[in-house]
Amino acid sequence: MLIQQPNLKKNVSHIINPSVTTNELSSYEKLLYWAAIIESSDDAIISKSPEGIITSWNKGAEKLYGYTAQEVIGKPVSIIMPKGKESDFSYMMSQFLAGKRIDHYATQRQRKDGRIIDVSITVSPIKDATGKIIGASKIARDITAQVEEERRKEDFISTASHELKTPLTSQQVYGKLLERLIEKNDDSEYLPLIQKMNKQTKKLIKLTEDLIELSRTEKGKLEMDMEPFDFDDLVQEIVENSRMISNHKIEITSTVNQSIVGDRERIGQVLTNLILNAVKYSPRAEQVIVNTNVIDNELQVSIRDFGIGIPKEYHEKIFERFFRVYGEDEKTFPGMGIGLYLSKEIVTRHGGTIWLESDSNKGSTFTFSLPLG
Ligand code: ADP
Repeated sequence: MLIQQPNLKKNVSHIINPSVTTNELSSYEKLLYWAAIIESSDDAIISKSPEGIITSWNKGAEKLYGYTAQEVIGKPVSIIMPKGKESDFSYMMSQFLAGKRIDHYATQRQRKDGRIIDVSITVSPIKDATGKIIGASKIARDITAQVEEERRKEDFISTASHELKTPLTSQQVYGKLLERLIEKNDDSEYLPLIQKMNKQTKKLIKLTEDLIELSRTEKGKLEMDMEPFDFDDLVQEIVENSRMISNHKIEITSTVNQSIVGDRERIGQVLTNLILNAVKYSPRAEQVIVNTNVIDNELQVSIRDFGIGIPKEYHEKIFERFFRVYGEDEKTFPGMGIGLYLSKEIVTRHGGTIWLESDSNKGSTFTFSLPLG
């Protein structure tokens, strides 16, 4: 069934009057009132039947997609789907048939003139009085400018971090050389200075490497070098390295005796991130516990600390790019909010999951799982 477009040529200004509430309007006036709102919206608002046939199309949609209502009503919504976005359609259809809403889904659509635009779409099922789904409403907003801005930012981060890496690496080499010379000459006065400088250079290199990894992830270029390795060995190695740069007591409480197929270096990076976070965010505690387990054909690794903890309301956001908790305690710690984002990417690429249990001042336990075989 196609929805008749209401006649909006009729003057509705008397309806949109601050002294009149919508309750005082007749059903027809209410329909005109809402139709006027939809028509004058800058967002594209369209509706479609359960079969994906366009049933209504507002002025915003005409502007965004370049088709008039007459041109598209009765046609399938695939008319605005660019090539390669077919999976969008099946995803939206599955959500829709399950009666679920899709909120601010960033994707692309194709205009009548062929131009591809970036849009953010919200789809809500329309139900009749019996609860049966009779269609869906779609609200789309043009986000091309934001996406372009985001791309420019990503390109800048990618170029800047690559350009920084080379001079920093040579600075590190010369710094180490100088440290050795000072040590050899027994210049104890200068030794702590050069050691401090080398420590800062190391931090800078780590930050730069995180930024490079971040841009690789965003461009879908985070490559994984999958091969079998012994998991206990890796945990031992990372914990020993972490002990060298921290004063915490980092304990390993179990072994798994398992070989696993994965990117050893990147899984090591996840362990390092979690252990160094546990150290960083527990300045008044001294213990960090690393526990490994095999549960249901999965390898699980937990890193527990007794530090400042993370309030529950941030648990969902904590793995997002650049997300940091900014409480009184947290703002004193340096960081960019990239480590957990990258860790999640790496674990997900291995078919695993990562989660946390934590609360303010109760410490945190970060756990990740990796499928075995
Ligand atoms: P960074 O530590 O560089 O800010 P991360 O992505 O590693 O970035 O962590 C994101 C945020 O999560 C941190 O800023 C911090 O607020 C919080 N966080 C991470 N690990 C812990 C932890 N073990 N205890 C308390 N807060 C943590």
